[in-house]
Amino acid sequence: MNLKTVTVRTENAQQLVDITSTVRHVIRESGVTRGSCQIFVPHTTAGITINENADPDVRKDILNILETMAPSTGNYLHVEGNAHAHAKTSIVGSQLSVFVEAGQLVLGTWQAIFLCEFDGPRTRNVLLRVTPA
Ligand code: ZN
Repeated sequence: MNLKTVTVRTENAQQLVDITSTVRHVIRESGVTRGSCQIFVPHTTAGITINENADPDVRKDILNILETMAPSTGNYLHVEGNAHAHAKTSIVGSQLSVFVEAGQLVLGTWQAIFLCEFDGPRTRNVLLRVTPA
């Protein structure tokens, strides 16, 4: 299928946004029943990860841990004031690949796909391609 772009409007400076239902929708639309879905976030201050969506405190803990690793206010060289967001994006990464089986996204029971906003709020693009096996 063609590369699909979806937009995600984030609401906070730093936030994990559950985009699982959007990914499921793109997979359904693709008609692919067995294969994989590549997901890429083309930004330097937003990334993507898979983690738990059942307890929202997990999201907060992840953001807090990343904040410990790269504090929002620190002594950085990058003059834009968002060096921490660049660092956090590199820590979580910019792409994922997930399996598609029987027309469904394959995830563990507690897993969800999160766009990771580190310099919001902004409108972010997420690129997806579903490829048959
Ligand atoms: Zn910057």
